[in-house]
Amino acid sequence: MDNLIDIKGVSHAYQTAAGPLPVLDGLNMAVPEGEFCAVVGPSGCGKSTLTRLVAGLMKPDTGEVWLHGELVKSPRKTVGMAFQNPVLLEWRTILQNVILPLEIVAPSMPKAQKEARAHELLDLVGLNGFANKRPSELSGGMRQRASLCRSIVHKPDVLIMDEPFGALDAFTREDLWQTMRDLRAQEPFTAVLITHDLRESVFLGDQVIVMSGRPAHAQYTLKVDLPADRTIESLYTPEATE
Ligand code: ADP
Ligand code: MG
Repeated sequence: MDNLIDIKGVSHAYQTAAGPLPVLDGLNMAVPEGEFCAVVGPSGCGKSTLTRLVAGLMKPDTGEVWLHGELVKSPRKTVGMAFQNPVLLEWRTILQNVILPLEIVAPSMPKAQKEARAHELLDLVGLNGFANKRPSELSGGMRQRASLCRSIVHKPDVLIMDEPFGALDAFTREDLWQTMRDLRAQEPFTAVLITHDLRESVFLGDQVIVMSGRPAHAQYTLKVDLPADRTIESLYTPEATE
């Protein structure tokens, strides 16, 4: 089995005061190792629920979630998460924030080695001059860059991002898209990106899964067939008409 993530017939309903609220209905999806999978769908269709299931933070009512050939039954340290509003610890510097996951999963790693790893990633995302700043001294886009470094510093099996660029202005967001591609070129990882921005899904994804229906299932899966070196500009280049 070459799929890093295998979601098989997953259904889930939340128990609410008004009765069960079915959210996912027989969802199937597979993400091969190394692939960048973008998931798009309308608000409320169950995208965040999907991320919680993959991270093992919740169990589906029926169906199975497999990660690296193992049935997911409990929270996973091998899953990196990134969210719309990254929580960076204000009393720590950016460098100290980025090394946090290493302190948890690799406590015996020498401090110098942890810091070298963090610097390596901060360099890749253009934050080399900011390692010793506090989070509040950085712009929103920079904080999200730092948070992405923190999400992958310990080399998780998969990086799950739940609308990570949603709170950024359009220009900053596009810078971040490019950073994400640069980062991936230097340091390959498997990713699931939740977004409601179709352009973002096509720019970043190797495959795009469209969730729809109520309750939702994966309605369409499309393999993105665009040049791997596509640029932001290419999204704007009008087709020649003559
Ligand atoms: P999305 O991320 O696609 O916007 P969510 O997965 O957050 O969707 O939520 C899907 C549906 O489930 C929504 O109608 C939401 O209100 C509901 N929901 C989410 N979490 C809970 C919960 N813990 N308890 C009850 N209902 C929930
Ligand atoms: Mg959500």
